Amino acid sequence: MKLAIEIDPRSGFCNGVVRAVQQAENYLRYNERLYSLGAIVHNSVELERLKKKGLEIISIVEVEQLRHDVILVRAHGEPPGTYELARRNDLQVIDCTCPVVLKLQERVRETWLRLRGTGGQVVIFGKKGHAEVNGLVGQTEGEAIVVGSEEEVRSIDFSRPVALFSQTTKDPDEFRRIARSIRARRPDAEVYDTICRQVAQRHKSLISFARNHSVILFVSGRESSNGKVLFDLCRSVNARTYWLENASQIDLSWFRDGDSAGICGATSTPKWQLEEIFISLQAATK
Ligand code: SF4
Repeated sequence: MKLAIEIDPRSGFCNGVVRAVQQAENYLRYNERLYSLGAIVHNSVELERLKKKGLEIISIVEVEQLRHDVILVRAHGEPPGTYELARRNDLQVIDCTCPVVLKLQERVRETWLRLRGTGGQVVIFGKKGHAEVNGLVGQTEGEAIVVGSEEEVRSIDFSRPVALFSQTTKDPDEFRRIARSIRARRPDAEVYDTICRQVAQRHKSLISFARNHSVILFVSGRESSNGKVLFDLCRSVNARTYWLENASQIDLSWFRDGDSAGICGATSTPKWQLEEIFISLQAATK
């Protein structure tokens, strides 16, 4: 079977994840073990690679048991309580919070402090329970309201002022719909589009990439929230889009002779994994 295969040149880790993985690898070059608070990246294949080098994923409950150790805070960031815990337990923190997330945390905190006196509410468009969202809610001492969809906008009290932010990896179109829905009920609502520029640009470029290929192989961990958003985006413009986590999941019945296959992924999918899929697909269709 003849296939033209192309890797999306814009896919691969985002800057925040590249930085976190690099810092973990630098540390593990000279040390046997490093604790990461939560998965450093939502990608099981990449996690396995890092685990072999000594990275150990632990939960906040396990951090409570540690003393005089080193922990890594991933790109998603953490609420202030985590840093207090680290201080109490004399833990050294390798802080890999992405600078974009850090800036967002500061803005959320400043806005919450400013609105507090007027009874205002900070609203975050994001996935409930997601680490980045927990970190943002932590800036408001747990008061921020998290909305995951347009329907959930109903949980906001529109008799009080509102300021809307977004988790960095959310869908820009969905954010605009939610902002419109809030402004329809509260025209003076403050709206801050805090979607990461890298993510927003990837949305645009991925639409044309998915349109320009007959079949799309979307590579990502199932637990990646950005993966879910970008997969749905590809699927919306190309019905022959398939989600896979590794090369063993390639199914040749997806392809027809003469197809062009596009390989792309989430911000948590490493470039090397896309290349691995490319090589496997090339070998299987020779
Ligand atoms: S998606 Fe953007 S904000 Fe989020 S970690 Fe990556 S670079 Fe940082």
